[in-house]
Amino acid sequence: MESHQGLLNQGASGVASTGVLTIDLSAIQANWRTINASLAAGAQAAAVIKADAYGLGAAQVGPALYRVGCREFFVATLTEARAVKEYLPKDANIIVLGGARPGDEGAFITEGLTPVLFSLPAVERWQQACLTVGAPQPSALKLDTGMHRLGLSSDELDQMLAEPARLKECGIALVMSHLACADEPDHPLNRQQQHRFHNAVDQLRQHLPGVRLSLANSSGIYLGPDWHYDLVRPGASLYGFNPQPGNPNPMQPVVQLDLPVLQVRDVAHSGTVGYGASTPVDAPARLAVVAGGYADGLNRTLGQHALGVVGEQRIQVIGRISMDLTIFDVSELPSGESPKWIQVLNRELTVNLVTERTGALGYEVLTSLGGRYRRIYLEEPQS
Ligand SMILES: *Cc1c(COP(=O)(O)O)cnc(C)c1O
Repeated sequence: MESHQGLLNQGASGVASTGVLTIDLSAIQANWRTINASLAAGAQAAAVIKADAYGLGAAQVGPALYRVGCREFFVATLTEARAVKEYLPKDANIIVLGGARPGDEGAFITEGLTPVLFSLPAVERWQQACLTVGAPQPSALKLDTGMHRLGLSSDELDQMLAEPARLKECGIALVMSHLACADEPDHPLNRQQQHRFHNAVDQLRQHLPGVRLSLANSSGIYLGPDWHYDLVRPGASLYGFNPQPGNPNPMQPVVQLDLPVLQVRDVAHSGTVGYGASTPVDAPARLAVVAGGYADGLNRTLGQHALGVVGEQRIQVIGRISMDLTIFDVSELPSGESPKWIQVLNRELTVNLVTERTGALGYEVLTSLGGRYRRIYLEEPQS
């Protein structure tokens, strides 16, 4: 905490980047523990750390979650898997949602990575690779239960079931599917998907008696205990998003973003602000120009609905967000006060609030917090 405050106290001149992104690893750990402790008996929480842990840094987030007991990690690609493997102890199970692309099967086996098999050709390729090394290798089988994204259709599953030897040769240790509408608890597709999942699993279990099951992402977990099975796959909720939109958020906020003020200007004559001269400003007004723009993930679609805060006072973005700069209207601040920093994400200004105000997806907000910020990771020692 001290180094963080120290840095901000130096004022904008002390920072060479566009802004300071503070990531509270202890909050991510607490969120994982909250979920893991809430699960039905026998169920366990994995962690989804794809897309560099939703932009927050898989190299930091993965090990932090390992330290509190997480052992299963989902990423999207082989490249992501290799990157996080560097930082995780050997007993961590790294599961690649995007599967093994043709020709990569051998690398998965030698590097000890688990592919998600989501099509018949992928199953066949994995089976061949397993036969080549002479033993089944751990894999996960993904079923499409109604989202029509990745996963075996029911026809493909029937073809698999017609050759049950293949199921064993492929080392299938996990059967999974993914919910399309888990954040809408009353959506009928949820139960339909669950029903299809049960039907498929009943048949698969005859050949794979001990196989583990997984259906829920963050919001799916909060549909209730009968959605937990053996393994849940939270991503967004670990990073502070509310898994139950419209209800109180059980998660702790994780990110704080502070942008340094480069210039405070008094507007003496009414005119317009920013590119396109699209936004009028009435004199007298005070504007603060901060370092940080759409190249830093402050997407232009956030536009004029975006908020910042100085102390307790909320302020508005004015004019179009540019590549490296954003302008805030600070006319309402007490006269004579020149802020050195404007905070755009914190405990009150959460990703969920940004989502509600601007219509951006929380996932987009986090994964776009690009590479130009100075990053600070906070972690309390484990007691
Ligand atoms: C991204 C992803 C998750 C995590 O979803 P959240 O909504 O972020 O919790 C879980 N399962 C699969 C298959 C995914 O692609």
